[in-house]
Amino acid sequence: MYRCTRNDRERVSASHAISQGISADGGLYVPESLPRYTHEDLIRLSHCTYPERAARIMSDFLPEFTREELLSCANAAYAKEKFSGNSPAPLSLQQKGQKNLYILELWHGPTCAFKDMALQMLPHLLTRSLHKTGNPRTAVILVATSGDTGKAALEGFRDVPGTRILVFYPMHGVSNMQKRQMQVQEGSNVAVCAIEGNFDDAQTGVKRIFTDPAVKAKLEEHGMMFSSANSINWGRLLPQIVYYFSAYCDLIATGEIDRPGEEINVTVPTGNFGNILAAYYAKEMGLPIHRLICASNANNVLTDFLRTGVYDKNRPFHATLSPSMDILVSSNLERLLYHLTGGNSAQVAAWMKELAASGRYVVDASTLEKIRSLFWAGFCDDENTKASIRSMYETEHYVCDPHTAVAVHVYDQYVEETKDLETPAVLVSTASPYKFASGVLEALTGEKPLGDDFACVDELAAMTGAPVPEPIQALRGKAIRFTGSCPVSGMSDTVLSMLV
Ligand SMILES: *Cc1c(COP(=O)(O)O)cnc(C)c1O
Repeated sequence: MYRCTRNDRERVSASHAISQGISADGGLYVPESLPRYTHEDLIRLSHCTYPERAARIMSDFLPEFTREELLSCANAAYAKEKFSGNSPAPLSLQQKGQKNLYILELWHGPTCAFKDMALQMLPHLLTRSLHKTGNPRTAVILVATSGDTGKAALEGFRDVPGTRILVFYPMHGVSNMQKRQMQVQEGSNVAVCAIEGNFDDAQTGVKRIFTDPAVKAKLEEHGMMFSSANSINWGRLLPQIVYYFSAYCDLIATGEIDRPGEEINVTVPTGNFGNILAAYYAKEMGLPIHRLICASNANNVLTDFLRTGVYDKNRPFHATLSPSMDILVSSNLERLLYHLTGGNSAQVAAWMKELAASGRYVVDASTLEKIRSLFWAGFCDDENTKASIRSMYETEHYVCDPHTAVAVHVYDQYVEETKDLETPAVLVSTASPYKFASGVLEALTGEKPLGDDFACVDELAAMTGAPVPEPIQALRGKAIRFTGSCPVSGMSDTVLSMLV
């Protein structure tokens, strides 16, 4: 069963948590208890394929689903046509100095960013959850995106029976590559619209539509209901736990790990705290992780929090080379606080209230001590991001994207400060370098590129020889389908005209 982070009295099933997305009081759903895995379990898992690993681990959290059902979801989500290569989450070994560094590449899916790992699975979990809760209506997914989430959600939900998806993006707030990815979106149940405003306008507009009684009534008349695909949905977090287990199993399979309980370090480029929270759950489930290393960009609110226990979003917002981590309020942190306080929902609710009122809260000494025993935190500005991209290329001939480069730099800081060279290190790579080709090219050449995004892709490919992912190549030939835009005040009308 699942609990709510802000309210002791709420206790819901997995399918309810997933179809609902967020609790009515704004709290997030968290599992009441966690399964434990032994070394023997991990050895057994190491003989399995990725979809089998996913079905095994997810079945512990979804008792209303059979193992066969989850295996068929995982086989569909991680099919070869969607994720190129032998595994959807391969480990690539780099020798960094004397250290063995394993890069967990999570960008081999249809949109070339790690959000595919969850958003290819969520539609299966969501539609089946709606069915299990006796809700036969069509789920309408509304998304406000600043870039990666919109495209990944569109790809995940395209042509999924029983769903419609509408994405709003800020007209001038996404990169050209990201805009093009969305404008050419295929599928019979999808729509995309630019709004005349920034990301906050889009987000506020979507939230307003979610709770607009007139729009809701209209949807109900037509047998539809709103649902959410954003990263606070448990159905997006759960598939992310799998790849940490999978990485460890791969290290067992190659012989890098040969002792029961042998620990690894995990470094995660972090924004909304979803990805690294999945690693925390894996650790609590018995996966031997020594330190969870949290890497932030210049928006370093998490670095300060994990070191001092003071969360303070009252600071300048920086637009960086790693835009998917430009976040000052990390929603999923709330789940960690719930677990570390032993499920003290009153305390969590009070901190979240302070955050909403003043942008700041301070945790108690015992919570801070727990945080510091689990996490190590650092940050990396744009100059160091570029330097990391350059040094990974020059010394290892590995081309990494700016988000991954932030993690590389912070991992280097960790080793420098702790001298912990022995623990095998897994570093999470969250995007293909070709998705952010102009930033990567600038890092490698030292000059701002002049051409458009596709020219940067070609130049980067010619320079490095790294293969261009098929979904990025395919974008060039695709017809543009969605060029519409609307003012913020017209969003409800747009939604209704697209749907009914
Ligand atoms: C979303 C995203 C992140 C941040 O992940 P969180 O789960 O929000 O911490 C990092 N890198 C890329 C490329 C992303 O798209």
